[in-house]
Amino acid sequence: MFLICPNCGEHRPDRVVDPAGPVSICPVCGHRRSFVRRPLLVVGGASGSGKSTLCQALLGRVSGGVLLDSDLLWRPEFNTPDTGYAEFFETWLRLTVAIHQSTGPVILFGAGFGVPTNLEGRLHRRYVGRIHYLALICPDDVLAQRLRARPAWRGAGGDDFVQGQVGFNRWLRTEGPRAAVDYALVDTQVHDVGRAAAQVAQWIEAHLVG
Ligand SMILES: [Zn+2]
Repeated sequence: MFLICPNCGEHRPDRVVDPAGPVSICPVCGHRRSFVRRPLLVVGGASGSGKSTLCQALLGRVSGGVLLDSDLLWRPEFNTPDTGYAEFFETWLRLTVAIHQSTGPVILFGAGFGVPTNLEGRLHRRYVGRIHYLALICPDDVLAQRLRARPAWRGAGGDDFVQGQVGFNRWLRTEGPRAAVDYALVDTQVHDVGRAAAQVAQWIEAHLVG
């Protein structure tokens, strides 16, 4: 990984980025190294908004990008609300940058990725180009119905959980588009799975290049 300086051997994730190259510059010895900077596409949404369903529906249908579900890396030690789940988001950014050196762009599905402050300002953010945001949303009562209809073992039907997710869904719908310039919404109630998947696929294709 290019975060280890080939000149002085220091591992410094806080390299200085000159976007004109782009090159990253070692803060210890000043060594310059070119790297590949690609856009990152993120798809967020509350539980019950259709993330997993759409991610599955899109597998094999999107060429020119690497489609990943962020749950892949989730572990109990990442559950640190007091830090804003910093290590979880840093890990995904670091992995994204590593993938981007070979291929990409990465298209990442995950609840919290619809909240720009979870990504912007992170240490590894500098190595990624533009971040394009999309949130899957639906009316609050539809979301609550979907969560209450889930099997009990998923623990999604409790009032506190449902209320939390309804509040998050509302935030994504109203505040999300104000939180970043490049922020799209797809309503998963209006469309059936096939049409919603087509809409998300269209959004992905439009943003793969920059
Ligand atoms: Zn160095």
